Amino acid sequence: MLMRFVILAFFGMCSLSAAAAEVNVYSSRKDVLIVPLLEQFEKQTGIEVNLITGKAGALLSRIQSEGAASPADVLVTVDAGNLHRAKAADLAQTIQSKLLESRIPSALRDPQMNWVGLTQRARTIFYAEDRVDPKALSTYENLVDGEWKGRICIRSSSNIYNQSLVASLIEVHGESFAESWAKGIVANMARKPTGGDTDQLRAVAAGQCDLAISNTYYYGRLLDSERAEDKKVVNTVKVFWPNQGDRGVHVNISGAAITKYAPNYDEAIKLLEFMVSDEVQAYYAKVNHEFPVVDSATVSATIQSLGSFKAHDLNLSILGENNKRAVMVMDRANWQ
Ligand code: FE
Repeated sequence: MLMRFVILAFFGMCSLSAAAAEVNVYSSRKDVLIVPLLEQFEKQTGIEVNLITGKAGALLSRIQSEGAASPADVLVTVDAGNLHRAKAADLAQTIQSKLLESRIPSALRDPQMNWVGLTQRARTIFYAEDRVDPKALSTYENLVDGEWKGRICIRSSSNIYNQSLVASLIEVHGESFAESWAKGIVANMARKPTGGDTDQLRAVAAGQCDLAISNTYYYGRLLDSERAEDKKVVNTVKVFWPNQGDRGVHVNISGAAITKYAPNYDEAIKLLEFMVSDEVQAYYAKVNHEFPVVDSATVSATIQSLGSFKAHDLNLSILGENNKRAVMVMDRANWQ
């Protein structure tokens, strides 16, 4: 199973024979998240999966430079913003599948079916239980209040998760509101943005700040960790779901596109359809502590322990469409 993966890593795609049914996957996800699923797919269908792993930007450039000769069939990556980039660069094509359309809520897929969401994550607020009364928390908008001056930890503006959050605010309130919000966040930062989401959660536990913005799965990983330092974080830092009285929590996806020149289009469709069964959805979401995109799939016990919340039902393609403006807004706000 997946033996081709090993061969590919050394000799590249061109050494492959085209005899057996196969599908070529370019993925920016960690191998541990996706390899067991691809092996299961091979076993179930007899379709061989060839996997290339890399960073989202590098994979997009690679597909672009390979052009019509690209062996890539499926691009798997995180954030609707990244998937939208593939679409905007004309690297994707319509995913023709009634099954995918019916299984995946419309907000979590491209309106032209150029990409689909496969797992869901929320980008929410975490707070120091001993220093913040959750009653004082309400919305993302409220985070710019003077009450939070010098108390917020959040990663840099170069990170697409924050760009997508700002893109959602542009959609809801307009660009000038989003800019003053970004300025307010910068004014309330406890420190210069540094590290990833987990580092923001750790900084709250360490007393460097009182609030952090993080995707839920980073907290989920800490919840399942056996390490004493991680237990300390989850024992002292708690989740808050903002905007429950209005639009809901900002959510995003990991997902997939079928490339424009996919040599194995039918196999690519089969792989994506495989990914939305209840069982595979539950497993795929669970290994990275995410939420399934399919409603009937089971949410892991760890993630269920965070409680339920109302999610913003914005079509996530909007995040991609607003991305450039979001980046400019954050630049003007001097969000490092
Ligand atoms: Fe992440």
